[in-house]
Amino acid sequence: MNSAVYLDHNGTTLLDPRVLQAMMPYLSEQHGNATSRHVFGRGARQAIDHARGQVADAVGAHPSQVIFTAGGTEADNLAICGIPATRPNGQIAMSAIEHPAVTRPAFAMRSRGHRVAVIAVDHVGRVEKNHLDAILEKPTALVSVMLANNETGVIQDIAGIAETTRRHGAFMHTDAVQGLGKIKLDFTALNVHAMSLSAHKINGPQGAGALVLDKRVDIQPLLHGGGQEKGLRSGTENVAAIVGFGAACELIRHELVQRTGAVRQLRDQLELGLKALGAHIFGAASSNERLPNTSFFAFPEIEGETLVMALDRKGFAVASGSACSSDSTEPSHVLLAMGVEPELARGAVRVSFGAGNSRQQLVAFLQVLENELQRLKRLTAVAV
Ligand code: PLP
Repeated sequence: MNSAVYLDHNGTTLLDPRVLQAMMPYLSEQHGNATSRHVFGRGARQAIDHARGQVADAVGAHPSQVIFTAGGTEADNLAICGIPATRPNGQIAMSAIEHPAVTRPAFAMRSRGHRVAVIAVDHVGRVEKNHLDAILEKPTALVSVMLANNETGVIQDIAGIAETTRRHGAFMHTDAVQGLGKIKLDFTALNVHAMSLSAHKINGPQGAGALVLDKRVDIQPLLHGGGQEKGLRSGTENVAAIVGFGAACELIRHELVQRTGAVRQLRDQLELGLKALGAHIFGAASSNERLPNTSFFAFPEIEGETLVMALDRKGFAVASGSACSSDSTEPSHVLLAMGVEPELARGAVRVSFGAGNSRQQLVAFLQVLENELQRLKRLTAVAV
């Protein structure tokens, strides 16, 4: 058993024991293939359909709009490659702060003749709407703007961006992987054509996700084969993971208010402590909406990587830069897009709270952070 304190819930989360319990039968005796006609197959099919309803209910969608995938990355790829594929001359527009699961497929679509336009963000990480307007003057197949940023937690006005996008006759996708389970999501109210979700950010299993899709959108699949998920995601369904995703969605539907209230208190208290220690907190303008669990900050002249390793040695797991690219030492592209000086951006550290975190852990964390900062500053002073 790992005794370290986990403060990296935007990276991934622990499987909820209730989710594991829901999954267990499908990892053992209920082993049917959902395409089979016999009793085992019918059991698997029913379990998938039940989960589809649970996911749809959690995000204000209709079950028929939920396409299960093997995670958020695949959902993003399906939208970013699949929608423009039916609109050969349209450009793909995405914000400058998207996750690589959006940027990489978008740039890959250049080889199929699609132009890529990058929408600027302002200094607090919000999409520049005037820039979007200017970009949309050119024929556009798809606009993709994430609902909430995985690093800063900054939340975008997706409904407003979707309205502009629709006015120009383009489709709108949002990567809502970090929003699910942290703020209330309503697919219909967001007015988007497609929305990506992932199970492992909400105490569900890794390797399950969904693209929620307006049925009127023409889209091409990434995978061809047995025609599962209405032909949009061929391949035998991962029944246990899908069941777990459904169960995790059901739990957040009932527990969202309580969970977000708890993490917001911890985050706000953390930020009081951080400010007292002289941290710069990114995207924390009072005008800005942020995820309630996320704090992204830096201390001038302290390397983020160094601080993360020092905290790890003291038993606190936090992230530097983006969760999914933490092996890279480049400053965060999100911070650079916000105009943060590369020097300060190199110091970025992210704390993201979640189920299981407590006030005692936070108090201990702040104490260790203060000690480590003093130690690192002494080392820097000696080196100079
Ligand atoms: N989109 C965002 C905003 C993310 O934060 C992540 C993972 O960190 C992903 C997509 C990828 O999701 P998955 O890990 O389920 O492939």
